[in-house]
Amino acid sequence: MPVDDKLKIYREKRDFERTSEPAGSERDPSEQPQFVVQKHDASRLHYDFRIEVEGVLKSWAVPKGPSLDPRARRLAVPTEDHPFEYIDFEGTIPEGEYGGGTMLVWDTGTYRNLKPISMEEGLAKGRVEIWLDGHKLHGGFALIRTGKSGDDNWLLIKMKDEHADAERDILEAEPNSALTGRSLEDIAAGKK
Ligand code: MN
Repeated sequence: MPVDDKLKIYREKRDFERTSEPAGSERDPSEQPQFVVQKHDASRLHYDFRIEVEGVLKSWAVPKGPSLDPRARRLAVPTEDHPFEYIDFEGTIPEGEYGGGTMLVWDTGTYRNLKPISMEEGLAKGRVEIWLDGHKLHGGFALIRTGKSGDDNWLLIKMKDEHADAERDILEAEPNSALTGRSLEDIAAGKK
């Protein structure tokens, strides 16, 4: 499916005269697929987990954010595909617009598919396992759909490996932007 078709819902939800979010464009996939976790202070603070698959960012809203504890099963609610250009988006979406609130790039980097099937196939089946090489997140993470229908929620789970850590609350320890070091308050205040 062309990127323009995948981004239809994303574009319908937004008024690009008002929001500084990217509209997105057709592009070739990155040599190394990328991921981003954005911290989003919308009506409720949450984290958006996005992985590059076939030219767009497959996206989930994770209310409690990722955890390094393999016993933590973090709810991940699927949201519309986002353009690849969203990967470094930080800023404030105006009040009253879709997703209104301040957003920062909490973590970003590259990932590897740990399964012998393609990412698209894994997503269709409701289970992907990826290895993250981010600034903050490292190692294996699984995204698992909780039911058979396409509308079901997913769980984001740290896999057991040398990067798992049940003691460390990484959201608390490293709250700011991986790109600019800014806090949500800094960005909301327009600090560069
Ligand atoms: Mn969000």
